[in-house]
This record gives sequence, C-alpha cells and structure tokens, in this order.
Amino acid sequence: MRKYIIAGNWKMNMNLSESIALISAIKNSVANEKLNCELVICPPFTNLETASALLKDSNVKLGAQNMYYEENGAFTGEVSAAMLKSVGCKYVILGHSERRTIFGESNQLINKKIKKALSSELLPIFCIGETLEERETGTTFDVVKKQIVEGLSEISETDVLKIVVAYEPVWAIGTGKTASKEQAEEVHLFIRNLLAELYSAEIANEITIQYGGSVKPDNAVELLSQPNIDGALVGGACLKAESFLGIAKAC
Ligand code: PEP
Repeated sequence: MRKYIIAGNWKMNMNLSESIALISAIKNSVANEKLNCELVICPPFTNLETASALLKDSNVKLGAQNMYYEENGAFTGEVSAAMLKSVGCKYVILGHSERRTIFGESNQLINKKIKKALSSELLPIFCIGETLEERETGTTFDVVKKQIVEGLSEISETDVLKIVVAYEPVWAIGTGKTASKEQAEEVHLFIRNLLAELYSAEIANEITIQYGGSVKPDNAVELLSQPNIDGALVGGACLKAESFLGIAKAC
C-alpha cells in the first residue's frame, strides 16, 4: 500500500550551524511520535554528511535536492548519485521547477537523472507541474502528461514503483498561493490515471503522489485528505521544525 511521504526541500537555505539546530529540533520532536508518514529532509549538499550523522538511528530520512547523471569526471560543480549514497541519502529531488526554469533542465535530462538515481539505489522525488501561463491557457494536463511521459521514458515497472511523484504547480511554489484541494486532486487523479495507462492500475495505485506549493500546517489536512494526495513536498514551511511537523501530523 502506498504511504504518505512528507519531504522538506530546504533549497539554498541554512548554513551548517543553522542546519544542526533545525535537524536536532526535528529529530527530537519526532523521536517519540508515531507518525503516519515517512519524514524526509533535503538540506543543501554541504550539510548532508552532518545531517546523516545527526539522523543516525532516527525515524527521519535524508534526501538531496539534485544530482548529475554521470558517474564521475569533469563536471565542475556537480554531485553524483554515488556521492549522495556515500553520505547516507535515501532520496533525491529531481526536476524541481526551479531546476527546470532557472537552470534550464529538460525532461530528457531529468529522465537521465532518474535512471541514474534508480540504478544507484536512490529514490527519486520526481517533480512536475505547470506554470501560471500554462494553467491559464488550459494546457495543464498536456504539460503534466509530457513531463511524465518523457521523464519516465524507458523506466521499467519495477523501477517506477520506487519513484515518488511530486505535483507542484509552479504558480503555487513560494507564492503563498495554494492550489485548492479540488484543483490539486483533479491533477493528482489525472497523474494516477496516466500512470495506470503507462504501466497498470495496480502499479499506479502503489505510487506516492505528493502535492507541493505553499503547503502549511493549516492547509495540510484538507489537501492530504484528498484520495490521490499522498504527502507533500514542502519548501518555506520546512525551515521551522514546528511548521514542518505540523504538516507531518496532518497525515
Ligand atoms: C517547493 O519548493 O518544492 C515548494 C513546494 O515550496 P513552497 O512550499 O515554499 O511553496
């Protein structure tokens, strides 16, 4: 059965000492909690090793925010899947809209990264979602379909089950504007049906589909109570232990 996954994308925030304080606060708060979700934090690369040590024996898992698909070599500034594994990452966020829009990542590049993550035993959190213009011109479903079909190209049935899909309408990321539960559920259902078409209904039913876009403790319950919303990818609200855990408790 698919599980709720709440993941915090710290983006380019938190230096080392701030990270230690936030991780300690999260870890201590959940130590005796029976959460109905997998809780994941994705700090910047520079803090992963420390995070991994702090999270040893805790119920909080570690993820990275990006990686490159090559094994190693002359790729200045990039980080490989093996490097992320070596510092204890379980997840890696791939195809975040900021990677797509600011750094020009294409569906084809994201597909290569997903394949490399999977063959390296990292679980991809595969982000998709439409811009405001695409929503307003009525192309949301076309855009999301293309991102999924191209992003998951040549990914096997066995491997797709290891992927977490994160539907994040770009207009809702960091803007304080959340998709209504109806708007979000409509696209989540579309994604699930598309996965059923590409793979099978059984497989589609097992895949966690997170929602992302200004999720906070006070809107988490209504979003997470939708039948096809299985967790959240959280930006702003994950930078404070209290709000991040408030979202986790909504599960
Ligand atoms: C994100 O960056 O993935 C995100 C959802 O950010 P926020 O929660 O701040 O909208």
